[in-house]
Amino acid sequence: MHCPFCCEHDTKVIDSRLVADGQQTRRRRECQACGERFTTFESAELVMPRIVKQDGTREPFNEDKLIAGIHRALEKRPVSIDKVEHSVNQITHKLRTLGEREVKSLVIGEFVMNELRQLDKVAYVRFASVYRSFQDVDEFRQEIERISTQVAEKTQEEE
Ligand SMILES: [Zn+2]
Repeated sequence: MHCPFCCEHDTKVIDSRLVADGQQTRRRRECQACGERFTTFESAELVMPRIVKQDGTREPFNEDKLIAGIHRALEKRPVSIDKVEHSVNQITHKLRTLGEREVKSLVIGEFVMNELRQLDKVAYVRFASVYRSFQDVDEFRQEIERISTQVAEKTQEEE
């Protein structure tokens, strides 16, 4: 890190310790050029990004909305609440660890589809039909055909 006093590129860490219950690292640094000392704090940025909607407007991430969307897709499907919760946690974890301040709603849609694909094929298709309808119709049709084939194969195996 550059020296804030003389802008020398190289500064030396002379002390480093955890503070705020291990949530931050506090470092004392010394500039090798001018001899000034200063302190830096390092902490993980795990802030939930804001959501950029299709029309370009922004809104805060809303976990209730995410859960409602997943439940809507899973209506009358044999999937346990535990599994839904696990998926929601996976999605929110991914969003936090992206480290982005803003994320397009389509990205969340992709995350949800990835989770639903593993949970329940029918729910996945329901959700994908809403999210992908305005994107690539051909791609969506191929995806449905792919799933139908998989379901057919699975049914044959079970017979
Ligand atoms: Zn300096």
